[in-house]
Amino acid sequence: MKKGSIYIHVPFCKTRCAYCSFFSSTNGMETKREYTDAVCLEAKERAIVDADGMEISSVYFGGGTPTQLPIENLERMMHALQANYRISEDAEVTFEANPDDITPTLIHQLRDLGANRISMGVQSFNDEVLSKISRRHTSRQAVKAVETTLQHGISNASIDLIYGLPGQEHRQWQQDLNMAFSLGISHLSSYALSIEEGTALFQQKKRGDIREASEDDFLLMYGLLQDTAEHAGFQQYEISNFALPGFHSRHNSGYWNGQPYIGLGPAAHSYDGLRTRRWNAADLYAYTRFWKSSEGNVKSPTPPPFDVEVLNDDELYDERVMTRLRTAQGMDLRELPDFRRDYLLHISQPYVKKRLLEIIDGHLRFTRNGIFLSDTIMADLMWDSEAPSSCT
Ligand code: SF4
Repeated sequence: MKKGSIYIHVPFCKTRCAYCSFFSSTNGMETKREYTDAVCLEAKERAIVDADGMEISSVYFGGGTPTQLPIENLERMMHALQANYRISEDAEVTFEANPDDITPTLIHQLRDLGANRISMGVQSFNDEVLSKISRRHTSRQAVKAVETTLQHGISNASIDLIYGLPGQEHRQWQQDLNMAFSLGISHLSSYALSIEEGTALFQQKKRGDIREASEDDFLLMYGLLQDTAEHAGFQQYEISNFALPGFHSRHNSGYWNGQPYIGLGPAAHSYDGLRTRRWNAADLYAYTRFWKSSEGNVKSPTPPPFDVEVLNDDELYDERVMTRLRTAQGMDLRELPDFRRDYLLHISQPYVKKRLLEIIDGHLRFTRNGIFLSDTIMADLMWDSEAPSSCT
């Protein structure tokens, strides 16, 4: 049976973090109720259209901050999924949470909803750094949140950390890593800071109030991350993701391996596992209004708040190379038609010679040195329809 996953985007946060460019709002209870109604309606309708014959092996509540919704709202959405989808008994069920929301009661409530994995946005264990990026929690609260999660029955705890944050020194980053791996987590996602337009950090950078980490800083910090994770017994199974054996995120692995996923909620993305991508508009008002009107069979005054893209053969090649190469096992060359495989082998040859890429058991993958240059190398491996015919 075809396997797939469901992602629910919960676009609410108590406050905005200085680096954040995710779609979320700080609106109140009435909006949350309408949003929940809309997700339940979308879940029902999409089950018929997009999940026929599919077994759901992973459910992921992300955001935003899912734990900013009252538990009753999360419960209603979970029930809508259970009523409309075939969710496997051993499905991975993840809730993203902010450390300052986590209490023993909340962990028990999430467990009762079926949660078996919590992913916490810790970002740093340094209070000064946390304050510079407007995180609401302190280092102490983050430590306590992990402890509470583990002590109250959810043994699969993941945290997110960011490196290259304003004012963060290499020594502090190493301390963050040491702290993270001392807590009993089973999974770590760690990303380099990217300062996006529209964020508070972007304004601070423009004013010259903060210094951006250099390329060398990022490389050094990434090296510390890889070394510390390895020392702690974690496997690097994707460019930014590390896990103890058996704790790879099933949800994220599905994305990288081309499995179908259904994204519910505003700004959520979906993929049918073949060629079709769909993304809901990042517009909470349009989203709730559309689903409300569809329930009453009232003709919606606006077009459905989503867009669809069907990938052509070249785009499909790019997509496969980009997602599979992110993973430790790399790109299975047998997935490609002969002429595409020949092209990829030809174009990757210089990198194989420099030991930045390697071919093991029919898989093309990055070496440890290659991962440092993954963005540049992947850009070079994209399909070029002007390439000489000898390559294609
Ligand atoms: S809690 Fe997460 S989604 Fe919300 S503002 Fe902060 S980084 Fe963004």
